[in-house]
Amino acid sequence: MPQHKTPAVVLYSMDLAEWDKLVTFFSRDFGKLKGVAKGAKRSRKRFGSGLEPLTCITLSFFEKERSSLVRLNHCEIVESYPHIHDDVLKVGYANYLSELINEMVAEREANKELFKLFITFLHLLNEPYFREEFIRIFELRLLSLSGYQPEFMECMNCRKEVNGEKEHQFSLSRGGIICSDCFKGSRNYPALSGGTIKILQRAQTIELKKVTRLFFSPQAREESRKILPRFIEYHLEKPLKSLRFLEHLGVN
Ligand SMILES: [Zn+2]
Repeated sequence: MPQHKTPAVVLYSMDLAEWDKLVTFFSRDFGKLKGVAKGAKRSRKRFGSGLEPLTCITLSFFEKERSSLVRLNHCEIVESYPHIHDDVLKVGYANYLSELINEMVAEREANKELFKLFITFLHLLNEPYFREEFIRIFELRLLSLSGYQPEFMECMNCRKEVNGEKEHQFSLSRGGIICSDCFKGSRNYPALSGGTIKILQRAQTIELKKVTRLFFSPQAREESRKILPRFIEYHLEKPLKSLRFLEHLGVN
C-alpha cells in the first residue's frame, strides 16, 4: 500500500470507538477525504493536536482496500490559526467556511485553487484586521471555482450592460442581476445598488493577495450579506447550519 502525503485542513473530527477518530479533511492533492485515525486519542506522537478542526497539517495516509475511508498514519501541524478561537464570531465564520467547503466539494476531487482559497481566508480570519466582507469575497470565489459564478456585469433578462448609476435586483434562480427596466418597480428580489455591484465585480477578480485592499461600504456589506449566503443555499438546495448560528449572533 503506497503512503500518500498532502497538505490538508481538518474540517470535522469525531470520536469513534474507544481510541479512534473519524476525520474529514479538505486536502490539496486529493480533495475531500475521510479517514480513521487508529489510536488517535492514545498516540500523541503520531497525531498530537493535529486532528482538531480548523488545523492545517501535512497529512500522511494509506488507502484502504474496498473502502472509501483512508487510514491515517501521521500528521504534522503547519498552522493552527489560534486567534480564531479567541472570538465566538470568528469561530462562527470559520465553521461557515468549513461547512461551505464540505458541502460544495465532492470527495476525491482535487481543486488546488480552492484549497489555496480556503487557507488564505482561514489565515485572514486569524488576523486582527479581519473584516466581514472577506467572507463575502470567499463566497464569491468559491462560487466561481465551483462553476456557479453569479453574473454582475449584465442583466440576466435583457443582457444590457450594468449601469452603475441605477439600482438593480438580484435573482437567485437566474443567478445574476436584473436591471431596473426589467424589474419595472416590482419588488421580487433583493436590491443591489450600483456601488455594491461595482465592489462585487472587483471582488470576483482581485488577486487573493490584494483582498485586504478592498473595503465594502456599509450598504455594500448589508446588500451582499442578503444575497450571497442565500444564493449558495439556493444551489445546495438545503439550509446551512452554520449560517443559522451566525444569524443567532446577529450577523447574516
Ligand atoms: Zn434588463
